[in-house]
Amino acid sequence: MRALLRILILLFTVSLTAQNTYLHCGKLIDTKSGKVLTEKTIVVSGNKIISVENGYVNSKNSKDTVVDLKSKIVMPGLIDMHVHIESETNPKSYLEDYTLNDADVAFNSVSYAEITLMNGFTTVRDLGGSGVNVALRNAINSGKIDGPRIFTAEKALATTGGHADPTNGAKKSIMGNPGPKEGVVNGVEDAKKAVRQRYKNGADLIKITATGGVLSVAKSGQNPQFSVEEIKAICETAEDYGFHVAAHAHGDEGMQRAILGGVKTIEHGTLMSSETMELMKKHDVYLVPTITAGKFVTEKAKIKGYYPEIIVPKALDIGPKIQDMFGRAYKAGVGIAFGTDAAVFYHGDNGKEFSYMVEAGMPEMETLQSATVTNAMILKMENQLGQINAGYLADIIAVDDDPTKKISTMENVTFVMKNGVIYKQQL
Ligand SMILES: [Zn+2]
Repeated sequence: MRALLRILILLFTVSLTAQNTYLHCGKLIDTKSGKVLTEKTIVVSGNKIISVENGYVNSKNSKDTVVDLKSKIVMPGLIDMHVHIESETNPKSYLEDYTLNDADVAFNSVSYAEITLMNGFTTVRDLGGSGVNVALRNAINSGKIDGPRIFTAEKALATTGGHADPTNGAKKSIMGNPGPKEGVVNGVEDAKKAVRQRYKNGADLIKITATGGVLSVAKSGQNPQFSVEEIKAICETAEDYGFHVAAHAHGDEGMQRAILGGVKTIEHGTLMSSETMELMKKHDVYLVPTITAGKFVTEKAKIKGYYPEIIVPKALDIGPKIQDMFGRAYKAGVGIAFGTDAAVFYHGDNGKEFSYMVEAGMPEMETLQSATVTNAMILKMENQLGQINAGYLADIIAVDDDPTKKISTMENVTFVMKNGVIYKQQL
């Protein structure tokens, strides 16, 4: 009893003397209203924002820290809805599927996580890897590794020979017969089992490959690869676990099936028809554009040997079409969830997506809102992430120019705080 009392007294004393951080912000982007505010002070205690004050307020407690961001433009930490945090493009990546062990993947992923955070992305949605992503998320959450807050799909679901079938392109003797445990689904029962297996493995959401893809060793980059019944079974089972479903899709038919089946986001959306855009709006489904990935694969496909031969025509066909489709979808009123497909290009370059979105016709402020409030809402974190307000998690970044006038400044984030901890501070 006395020991308990001592602990209680200790806790009370710690909370009384805990340091607060006062951030003096020259400009502050209010992502909720879409306004740029001037001369504000954000007060951070522990991992949370406790207040936002007018003017530059100083603490009366000498133990508190003041951070001078008077020359900077401050905003909530960015959220990327489409990364693969445990891998990254390189000319040998297809061979690496057969040479790297999980431990190798894990060591590589540490630097991808760190560079993502240092570039202002304090939260990411990881859309598929080998399962190392779950361990990486846990290691970051427990403070062992620096990286963004991760929501992961663990292993993406595919059908046999589909875009995320892990043994595509292998010789038959090592191809085996992957099933729902490995994320390969054929039929409604497999679909349910694959979702439940992801829950068991520690996933936060579900990713499906509704059509062919550019970088898989397979002929078509756009054919539909699931039936509506299979997708429905996945989405309904996912809901039992509080998961939403993200669907990779380039072709229009596969996209329509995914929307009717109940997914929350369409990734890439390359060949989306205007009919499908209407369907997206009707079913409240968001487009995750990944323009940066489209541009990167188009460039690399021109270098002989960078990708296997079967991939080159797909990359040259699909890659250049994404930005144009994005512009049309935005104008048609489709909801846009900022996401890049980092890993297909180099981690840390995620901020390039902002300029590409603006180029295609989306106003600067709306691109910032897409990467904050919209994405927080899809992750069901709208009361904790995506805004700088009392009660929100202290994920705060800053840039040196006003992004509503110069969007490329988003590629040069100079201050990063996540969960109240400062990771980067360039004056
Ligand atoms: Zn992807």
